Amino acid sequence: MMFIKKYFQDLLFLLFPESCHGCGEVLGNNEALVCTKCRLTIPETDLHTTPNDNELVRKFWGKVPVRYGFAYCYFNKGGCVQQLLHALKYEGAESLSSMFGYWYGSQLRQEFEGQFDLVVPVPIHPVKRRRRGYNQCDGFALGLSEILEVNCDVNLLKKVSHTESQTKKSRMARFENMEDAFSVDSAVELRGLRVLLVDDVVTTGATLEACIKVLVSKGCKEVSIATIALPR
Ligand SMILES: [Zn+2]
Repeated sequence: MMFIKKYFQDLLFLLFPESCHGCGEVLGNNEALVCTKCRLTIPETDLHTTPNDNELVRKFWGKVPVRYGFAYCYFNKGGCVQQLLHALKYEGAESLSSMFGYWYGSQLRQEFEGQFDLVVPVPIHPVKRRRRGYNQCDGFALGLSEILEVNCDVNLLKKVSHTESQTKKSRMARFENMEDAFSVDSAVELRGLRVLLVDDVVTTGATLEACIKVLVSKGCKEVSIATIALPR
């Protein structure tokens, strides 16, 4: 049933490109990308109202220092958010990412404007990026940076290729090396900066943790995190 529904949604989208990425309905004149009905069903987390102590920040306690933890919405299997993230990652709907950034940026602005020096997205592997055509986190980072009036550097963090560096390593060494999967150009100066690190979905937090370690090792004063969605 889900499959048939999805099939008709895709078909509708082909016939009517101005359709909602959540439900496939044709958008009204004042709507873009997502219809008002879908937007109202998005379960927002409100984590930013308790930014120092919430379910996202707690994932990192005892591992790496995190100043604030923000997530725009909860992710339910089969819900509207799952459909939107699928469209963002696999159907070329890149603009959804910046739209999430604008929406959440507007909520964060009053309380957190002036609290960050740089917004940085988690990178994806260059091969994946070439295949998809974009990093699905970049728009969210750029949208937030625009609303919060902070600089954004989408090329700061690099995802290191595993295929070249790990083929000769033992299985255990490969596993340990997962933590070293990200890097920053050695010439880049981050000392004293307050960074807002951005990802699309956080599950275990291992990816963000690895990125935070790199940023801290480069001298960042503090790192906060913002994700589009948080599974529950
Ligand atoms: Zn809709």
